[in-house]
Amino acid sequence: MVKDLIKSLAADYKASIIAHRRHLHAHPELSFQEFETVSYVEQELRDIGITDIETKADTGLVAHIQGKNPDKKIIALRGDMDALPIHEQNEVPYKSTKEGIMHACGHDVHTSSLLGTARILFNLREHFEGTVKLIFQPGEELIPGGASLMIKDGALQNPTPAGIIGQHVMPLIPVGQVGFRKGMYMASADELYITVKGKGGHGAIPESLVDPVLIASHLIVALQQVISRNASPKIPSVLSFGRVEALGATNIIPNEVKIQGTFRTLDEAWRAKAHEHMTTIAKGLVEGMGGTVDFEVRKGYPFLKNAEALTSRAEEAAIEYLGHENVLPLDIWMAAEDFSYYTQEIDGCFYRLGTRNEAKGITSGVHTPTFDIDEDALEIGAGLMAWIAVNELKYTK
Ligand SMILES: [Zn+2]
Ligand SMILES: [Zn+2]
Repeated sequence: MVKDLIKSLAADYKASIIAHRRHLHAHPELSFQEFETVSYVEQELRDIGITDIETKADTGLVAHIQGKNPDKKIIALRGDMDALPIHEQNEVPYKSTKEGIMHACGHDVHTSSLLGTARILFNLREHFEGTVKLIFQPGEELIPGGASLMIKDGALQNPTPAGIIGQHVMPLIPVGQVGFRKGMYMASADELYITVKGKGGHGAIPESLVDPVLIASHLIVALQQVISRNASPKIPSVLSFGRVEALGATNIIPNEVKIQGTFRTLDEAWRAKAHEHMTTIAKGLVEGMGGTVDFEVRKGYPFLKNAEALTSRAEEAAIEYLGHENVLPLDIWMAAEDFSYYTQEIDGCFYRLGTRNEAKGITSGVHTPTFDIDEDALEIGAGLMAWIAVNELKYTK
């Protein structure tokens, strides 16, 4: 049976997938600078025997594996390749060799796992009908998102896939398990850059100044109230400010205060309305207090919706592959992910791969300097994605 073949190939390739992951982990590259990474990926795909490879969006690539009757159905599998500006604190043999750059979101895992999946599927190409499109994308961590650039560069054309599958490491889920959620899953994320301008001077004579620190303090509170009073309680929304910069001193009121934050939600209409509300309130409040304001919303990724039918089939496949007890339901997750751009175009399923192992002390969250995974997850990630793809290709368009 194909499932058993996949399982045994995943076990055979485990060591090489781990070797790929360790190489990529030791040589991380920041978003849109994945030149060495993508050429490493291309080399491995050629070693496998895959020849239909095309560069996309400068540091991404698309490759195809044709089964029998290649036009019957196309399914895309996606891996992201970029690292983060974080200095690794793990003391491991595969520690990042680059100062201040680290694979702290597991994209080394996604890339090496997809290479493993590619090797499995290439070997089994007589066993499925249709075509598997491999998408190795750059720049997931940085607006405008590598996914949007890959789509612009034609990654979802020639041929157009019926659906796309992506996986992401999840350090909250124990290794050996995976998680699925149908429908709304992850949030849109917009960056807010606000500058409150006043008139600075000596802290002892506020009557002749316009104090932007006080105005900014009011503004932060007011904006939180805008969100809490205007968002439907049925739509999750988060507004957080993580940077407030007032470069005065004990006795110096500065000319301006800069505020940076993030706004996340799960509804496109409310998202647009919230931008409008926040801008209006900011202008009214700041000008009412004698200052002026620049309110910039840098729009990030849309929210991520997992297609019902595709996700149900993938979840069923995962249950067959791992057993019922190892397939968990997921809650809504307020982080953003540029996989959502693909799901705006075609059906998508974005699932979570468990990487946690408390016994080995592997518990750190993504985007932390001590993030790591239990590498047993790589065999599961590579094999499961191959099985989901083959399983999906059984279905007609
Ligand atoms: Zn990340
Ligand atoms: Zn990520």
